[in-house]
Amino acid sequence: MLRIGIMGGTFDPVHYGHLVAAEQAWYRFGLDKVVFVPTGRPPHKPESQVSDAHHRLRMTVLATQSNEHFEVSSVEVDRPGPTYAIDTVRQFRDAYPPGTALYFITGADAILTMMEWKDSDTLVQLCEFVAATRPGYQLADERIREIFGPAAHRIHFFEVPALAISSTDIRDRVRTGRPIRYLLPDAVMDYIAGAGLYRD
Ligand code: NAP
Repeated sequence: MLRIGIMGGTFDPVHYGHLVAAEQAWYRFGLDKVVFVPTGRPPHKPESQVSDAHHRLRMTVLATQSNEHFEVSSVEVDRPGPTYAIDTVRQFRDAYPPGTALYFITGADAILTMMEWKDSDTLVQLCEFVAATRPGYQLADERIREIFGPAAHRIHFFEVPALAISSTDIRDRVRTGRPIRYLLPDAVMDYIAGAGLYRD
């Protein structure tokens, strides 16, 4: 049986926290591969706050190309209209053989809002969720059961120390002229400089 990770995120920009989270999830859940899926038009964010999808897609390709079990998909960037996880998961369901196990991997803060996402009841039946947490993040099992109800056993929280790195901090650093080297791959750092991203 195939086991596929769908690594969902804005990736503005992608950084080592994301890469470590994906690698740890690949190992821990015995995944065959992890497919990074940069969001197209997130419904919960004003468009002006997010960099152009083609930049985020390109940076994600640069960051992942040296890992043979990482891939990048442009399904969300290519799909017109607002980006909903349910549409992406359905596309993955159709693309892989019946019985393939899908794991939607993303940040814990995003997953905590998942029951408000479009068609969340169907979504939890189509895939399991892997919620990557930053160091020191605590959430009682009781609270998880309260939020997710009977689907709670399909949500897996796991700590990723490298997620002390954040995209928001990296954007702030670029804006204020502070270094970002070693927070993300050099190729992504060079791309940000070349494209003039995150400077006001
Ligand atoms: P976000 O609100 O920008 O991020 C929430 C937190 O999670 C941030 O701390 C972020 O850190 C972290 N994070 C985001 N992606 C991550 C990843 N792949 N691995 C580890 N940490 C991650 O969330 P978002 O990026 O917009 O959305 C995350 C995913 O949820 C996307 O795939 C999105 O499509 C999906 N989503 C779907 C719906 C829907 O279907 N209605 C609604 C909301 C979100 P960084 O800023 O450092 O990345």
